[in-house]
Amino acid sequence: SMERWRGKVAIVTGASVGIGESIVEKLVEEGLQVVGLARRSEKVEEHAKKLTGKKGKLHAFKADVSKEEDILKAFKWVTENLGPVHILINNAGIVQQTNLVEGDTEKWQKIFDTNVIGLSVATREAVKIMKENKIDGHIVHINSIVGHKVAYHAFSNVYPASKYAVTALTETLRQEFNHLGLKIKITSVSPGVVATELRQTNNFVMDENMKKAAATRPQLKSEDVAEAVLYVLATPPHVQVHELTIKPVGEA
Ligand code: NDP
Repeated sequence: SMERWRGKVAIVTGASVGIGESIVEKLVEEGLQVVGLARRSEKVEEHAKKLTGKKGKLHAFKADVSKEEDILKAFKWVTENLGPVHILINNAGIVQQTNLVEGDTEKWQKIFDTNVIGLSVATREAVKIMKENKIDGHIVHINSIVGHKVAYHAFSNVYPASKYAVTALTETLRQEFNHLGLKIKITSVSPGVVATELRQTNNFVMDENMKKAAATRPQLKSEDVAEAVLYVLATPPHVQVHELTIKPVGEA
């Protein structure tokens, strides 16, 4: 049940569009105080207005998760204005069209700074606060099926590498919590293809074959992933989902 999270603070990174936008909406409906981080925080603000009158509340905070100082500012603001964080959803992520043989270093750097380092900094800050306040919180990483098994993609070898890192960070962090005697839960949610603007952004160029494949491939909706996140959060205190993989019917 989501009952024990009512009124508590949740931070969701990458809340302006796509999966993050769906997650913040569900959490607000469940009565949480939700802080949505994004570079386009004006989109989160618009969404917050639409959600007035719901049980919980959405707060927007402008932050680029590839910049450590932005994350630190966000956590400081949340702690001072809303209270200690109970739930962190590391959702912000980017794909860049870059492979390894011809790819460029700047794009690889951006992928890792966002998908891996940003996620790690946010996690560190959340754990610090949960530890200080003796909160048995929950951290959810939005991973990907390419964080577990790679298939050849003409566009990116480095994106799957960043998601493999997320898989490793989920498992090592859980071991660290156990070692430290912390009861904080950590879960990786790994979707297959989701219909979002992920591939439309970053000047993504698709050839005819890629377009055809994209048009016929079954896809999940952002809400499907948000429902999966609610499921893992709603488990009883003694139950921990380690990994939840979710794909559209028709995918192997
Ligand atoms: P979208 O491109 O639709 O949304 C990405 C979100 O992340 C936006 O809100 C964006 O906000 C935010 N974001 C990106 N970079 C930063 C940054 N530097 N700082 C803060 N926020 C950032 O993508 P999805 O919703 O599809 O992706 C969400 C997560 O799901 C990602 O981690 C992705 O890897 C993962 N995923 C997606 C799949 C798919 O098929 N769509 C499949 C498997 C996993 P803004 O630009 O305003 O900063």
